[in-house]
Amino acid sequence: MIIVDPSYEIQDELDRQPLLRALEARGRVCYKSEDKISEDSAIPFLSKIAASGHGSVLEMAVVTAEISCSAAETAALLATQPRFLLIDETEKGLLITASIRALRELAAAETVSAVAATLAGAVAAKYPFLFTGAALPPATLPPPRFLSIDTVEALPQQQLLCHRFLGVKFVVSRAVSHELVRHRPCSFLQESQRYCNYSQARFGQHVTFIRPLFYPEDSPEFARWEAAMTEAEAAYLHLLATSSPQAARTVLPNSCKTEIVVYCNLAEWRHIFKLRTSNAAEPSMREIMLPLQAELKARYSFL
Ligand SMILES: Cc1cc2nc3c(=O)[nH]c(=O)nc-3n(C[C@H](O)[C@H](O)[C@H](O)COP(=O)(O)OP(=O)(O)OC[C@H]3O[C@@H](n4cnc5c(N)ncnc54)[C@H](O)[C@@H]3O)c2cc1C
Repeated sequence: MIIVDPSYEIQDELDRQPLLRALEARGRVCYKSEDKISEDSAIPFLSKIAASGHGSVLEMAVVTAEISCSAAETAALLATQPRFLLIDETEKGLLITASIRALRELAAAETVSAVAATLAGAVAAKYPFLFTGAALPPATLPPPRFLSIDTVEALPQQQLLCHRFLGVKFVVSRAVSHELVRHRPCSFLQESQRYCNYSQARFGQHVTFIRPLFYPEDSPEFARWEAAMTEAEAAYLHLLATSSPQAARTVLPNSCKTEIVVYCNLAEWRHIFKLRTSNAAEPSMREIMLPLQAELKARYSFL
């Protein structure tokens, strides 16, 4: 078996790359197929994802746009209860942040507002393969103005909190990832134990576990933990001889290493830090959240 320490990677560099790159890089975490990323791998990968119904990949990048519209057009948008749009009123109309998934589904709804049709249409014109199967109504408003990541970064604090989305990839135990996925405003993509077969060479032919912070390595408790993980791994590898990874994974424990991308706006990161760095939080969660908060706070003091 392999034992590793928990870690994290702030993925803001991905937000400065073309949207397709961010979606592909985050999407491939599920299959641990990052080695397949090349100059022209994004479109076939994402076209397949868009057609397959693996919708959360399409949540992993957002666009922010200013759109000119009247009060009546704003009301018509709000009447469709766009739960997954971040919306601010501006002098000219609206400032909206939305993921590809949110736009796809808004534009395919029974009632489509002029704002949703115009915004989705403008994004679909750039990335038609992400909207395959979605019958988009015609745009009736002036084209939206898309904001670059640097323009979003320069927004006043209240808008920055709302419109700046940031992804973090965690390498943690399944116990910690299970707590992370309770944060409902976030989007998540996680290494799949259904698809990943840890007996393969690319996984080192072993199951990887997260070192538990609870037990010093020379303690009897650590030795007991290690023996339990060895036994679990042996059972997993034995079951793989006759069954699939999704069946064999039923013997894998909470300490199993997983990779999970958490993607949300800064307002939700602030909420996560409040809950997950407090003394009441689970120590393995604090182990990873305290350094992450310190690093992000250096850039965004309000976190
Ligand atoms: C110390 C600690 C102990 C815990 N113990 C347990 C436990 O024993 N068992 C257990 O099941 N869970 C437990 N949890 C998980 C906890 O109950 C929450 O599910 C988790 O922390 C997600 O946080 P949240 O609900 O505040 O907000 P998030 O899901 O992160 O949502 C952010 C905000 O969105 C709003 N929001 C989101 N969804 C809704 C909604 N449906 N209705 C209204 N408002 C909404 C709220 O304002 C919320 O603050 C624990 C968490 C902590 C930090």
